Amino acid sequence: MDTSGEIKILPDFIANQIAAGEVVQRPESVVKELVENSLDAGAGEIEVTINDTGKGLIHISDNGCGMSRHDLELSTRRHATSKVYTQDDLHAISSFGFRGEALASISSVAKLEIRTRTAGNHSHGWQLLSEPNSEIAIIPIECPFGTQIFVRNLFFNVPARRKFLKSDPSEFRLLNQTMIGFALANPEVKFFFGDGKKTIFNIKPSILRERIRAVLGKKVCDNMLELSLEDEMINIYGFAGKPTIAKASKSGQFLFLNGRPIKNKSLSHAVFSSYGPLLGAKQHPQFVIMLEIDPSSIDINVHPQKHEVKFSDDRFVYNSLRNAIKKSLQENNLSLQMEASDSFEYQKKIGNDKFAGGQEQFVNKNTGEIIGNKFSYGRAKSSGQQERNYQNKANISQRMAFDEIYSRAEEGNPEDKAYTDSQEIKFWQLHNKYIFTHTEKGVLIIDQHNAHERINYERALSVLEKEFAQSQKLLFPVELELNQSESSCFDEIKSELEKLGFIFKEGDSLVISSIPLDLKSGNAEDEFKEILDNYSEYKTINPTLRRDNIAASFACRKSIKSGQKLSLWEMEQLHRDLMNCQTPSVCPHGRPVVLEMSIPDLDKSFGRSPDNSFINK
Ligand code: ADP
Ligand code: MG
Repeated sequence: MDTSGEIKILPDFIANQIAAGEVVQRPESVVKELVENSLDAGAGEIEVTINDTGKGLIHISDNGCGMSRHDLELSTRRHATSKVYTQDDLHAISSFGFRGEALASISSVAKLEIRTRTAGNHSHGWQLLSEPNSEIAIIPIECPFGTQIFVRNLFFNVPARRKFLKSDPSEFRLLNQTMIGFALANPEVKFFFGDGKKTIFNIKPSILRERIRAVLGKKVCDNMLELSLEDEMINIYGFAGKPTIAKASKSGQFLFLNGRPIKNKSLSHAVFSSYGPLLGAKQHPQFVIMLEIDPSSIDINVHPQKHEVKFSDDRFVYNSLRNAIKKSLQENNLSLQMEASDSFEYQKKIGNDKFAGGQEQFVNKNTGEIIGNKFSYGRAKSSGQQERNYQNKANISQRMAFDEIYSRAEEGNPEDKAYTDSQEIKFWQLHNKYIFTHTEKGVLIIDQHNAHERINYERALSVLEKEFAQSQKLLFPVELELNQSESSCFDEIKSELEKLGFIFKEGDSLVISSIPLDLKSGNAEDEFKEILDNYSEYKTINPTLRRDNIAASFACRKSIKSGQKLSLWEMEQLHRDLMNCQTPSVCPHGRPVVLEMSIPDLDKSFGRSPDNSFINK
């Protein structure tokens, strides 16, 4: 190595290779840069074909403006760009490219061929061939109008970078996600995307909704709510998915700023938080949202990949986006107006304040640790003065006590009759499936199975977190025979099952000696196997959410089924427990749990305007 300390200017190809490290990290970045160039060139048709997930070949062809010989020659030089000339341009960037780095970088880490022909060139076009560290060659060639680019053997001369790539499926996923983004952001452009001989999509120009259908599928499209908000400073439009199609990953989220896909944590949060309790903590809404803002109020040059964006008024954009989504959720009756932290307040508001009277804490007798708050609830005696408190435990004898009161009241026992009379009947079960109850604002409809699943899921999660559960000893321990997959699943989650209240004896065979307190003791084997089954199923859907999967498997098994008749007491308890949940509105699988219809909603449905609903009786 030359260590004389003399300063030298790096040769071009080395400088380009260093810059390439920033601009070209993987096949996906090449595709992104090249498609952006095609869009900048005004193309209405863009075709992208890859071979060997882009490592063999990336081929892009467009019908854009093409390049003259002169431009072609400059195009692979660093900082050669036709897009920014002055300082002012830099402040209001509206094209994708502006650094003049992409082609230079790509040509330093791959074999590059460009064929291009401008509309003015009637006889022929030009072909450029370049290889890293050698002179470019340009010759006339017969070719269609527009530009075709071939990137071959990406990173063949930088093996370290090749090694750094993820597995083929992961790299493909990134490519696909980027192509979907382009297709969504430019519905008026015809796109073809192919992998080897396979067509991934081939879509004609259309409107955004149709684009969503074409690339994200019918189900997503049918479950999207339209957004629009426009004022002097900002225009927001697009679609946000109903909570029912929320995903465990963020792969269904597409946010664009002036037609460019962007990443911005604060804006993602704006979207997520607009849903409030409609979504669980690990659920991500799907959306395709377009923001249009005057380019001079944005700084896009924050990151070379140009994904990360800064706004001069962050909070304004945040709030506008939130308002747009909340408005749409509300218009579609999907807003519950109930924040998770409000659930206690909410319960009071809807007239259940008698339940909020004696709040008690459950304490682990062994450790003194507070396990959680449980409402105890009392009832006014016929005199209305004394209150009798019942602890809210899922305890059979207690439930019978309540059911008994109701049935005795039905038989005419005066004291119990007075009690039930003093209780306005607030719950009504429809088809042994849905529970109706009225609220201050209107009516709440609860899906009993989903609701119970939510409750059990949150309980299981809290037990898993706090390492404490109550067990009931089985009178007759159950000996289990597990098949291969059950037994490997069991090994995997044994310690969590123990936390949930199972006690096992392992010898020649597996024996369950105790089960969680609130599991039915009659059929321990079936219940247990179903938990294992559920767990292996959820695991394949969502391998990273281990604890949630265990809690959900447990919750599902334990839950009241649809079709099960519930007593008033059970409905009351279910409702109360639900309102105590962190996220009462969705079940662990993302299905809605409650639906609220307000009086104005009802008025609207019956063609009454809310103001004169009293007059026009
Ligand atoms: P930038 O896009 O930042 O200007 P690039 O290296 O991506 O830099 O491209 C360099 C130049 O090559 C562009 O400014 C443009 O003039 C020209 N160019 C690249 N791709 C195309 C294309 N598909 N059609 C027409 N011109 C292109
Ligand atoms: Mg570019």
